[in-house]
Amino acid sequence: METQDHPAVFRHVLGDCRWDGVACQAYKEEGAAPFKAVSRQVLFSQPELAAELRYFEVAAGGWSTLERHAHVHAVMVLRGHGSCLVGCVVRDIRRHDLISVPPMTWHQFRAAADQPLGFLCLVNADRDRPQLPDADDLADLCTDPGIAAFLAQN
Ligand code: MN
Repeated sequence: METQDHPAVFRHVLGDCRWDGVACQAYKEEGAAPFKAVSRQVLFSQPELAAELRYFEVAAGGWSTLERHAHVHAVMVLRGHGSCLVGCVVRDIRRHDLISVPPMTWHQFRAAADQPLGFLCLVNADRDRPQLPDADDLADLCTDPGIAAFLAQN
């Protein structure tokens, strides 16, 4: 039942993937991890839900942090196109593609050079902190020429 503590949420879309009353935040604290030109909007984060739904937008030519963690992601591209690394596979991605990231799997999202890449990301509300690759992890990843080429764009 809707109460003062649990109000129904309705937010009008304002245009290109911005919503009334939803703050457009930094993706991560500056310096916390490497990334380029990513913003974050938390769309749903409610105590009744064990998950959060966020919208990330990677500006043209930008990229999310290369990371892994025990929690999983479910992603749907809402705008633009680009590519992603999940595990040992690099794929081109476009609007409405669905991508899941299994536990402890390296992943990174990149926008194409000509337009932003925006995606919804469903994630556990209670989750572990991402791990960043060390030099050995990067060397392992880069034994695959496709992944080496993908990461060389960072
Ligand atoms: Mn992640």
